[in-house]
Amino acid sequence: MDADERDLSPEDAFSLLGNDTRIDIIQALWDADDPLSFSELHDRVGIRDSGQFNYHLNKLVGLFVRGKEGKYELTYAGFRIMGAIFSGTYTQRAEAETFELDAYCPDCGTELIAEYEEETVTVRCETCERNRSTFGLPPGAFEGRDESELRRTFERWLRNVFSLMADGVCLNCSGKTVGSLVTESEYFDEKQEVGIEFRCERCGDYATGNVGTYLLQHPAIIAFHYDHGIDLTKDPVWELEWPRPENATILSEEPLVAACTVTLDGDELTLTVDEELAVSVE
Ligand SMILES: [Zn+2]
Ligand SMILES: [Zn+2]
Repeated sequence: MDADERDLSPEDAFSLLGNDTRIDIIQALWDADDPLSFSELHDRVGIRDSGQFNYHLNKLVGLFVRGKEGKYELTYAGFRIMGAIFSGTYTQRAEAETFELDAYCPDCGTELIAEYEEETVTVRCETCERNRSTFGLPPGAFEGRDESELRRTFERWLRNVFSLMADGVCLNCSGKTVGSLVTESEYFDEKQEVGIEFRCERCGDYATGNVGTYLLQHPAIIAFHYDHGIDLTKDPVWELEWPRPENATILSEEPLVAACTVTLDGDELTLTVDEELAVSVE
């Protein structure tokens, strides 16, 4: 199939899925270890009328199902449809829940909590009445994980989503993201004077974060923590004192440059970030 044939409208592509038999076909191909012949697939889907079965299978072939040498298998789009079903994003409404994070607010020492509501996690300190992070998470993340695994999943998900955006890739659509330093955002609280923003050029998705969160993936920061007994590739970051919004300050307005100082056991490391998010170690 060439690229032009695949250029379906979203309505056409998604309307192909609005049928039980077609979803059963995709599910059967997902469950199979190897490509299935017409009759194997027909048996597994369990629809009697072979004309009907053939009709629905043919609707899927080309976009969600690939026919090759008399056998059928899922295309990448078919795999992604099953991923979307398993994630629960479109099919489940998760219960609102509150989790204790087993990590403590660096400002006041209260145990931080994560609230999950409307498929969004908010990490907050109830004493300081301050949100530390807010991010979307599909309901599938909750299945089969106990509380301690969930705590880790919240933290890793947030960091990896942020890191993907910082690497120029949109989690939503795989489009190109562009990051910049910004001094104004509706998401800043009153203590924050500078932050980071990522925008996807393809779908327009948008994320903001503080400069410290962005710096968490810089090798100088990772090494500095490692030298002080903190492994940023494994240890949770909620309790770190320095990556807070107000710890990044404006070093220069024109061109815009922000500075952020990390202090661990009395040792200091200062990094600067320019408008295009290039980082320098001072
Ligand atoms: Zn607090
Ligand atoms: Zn996007």
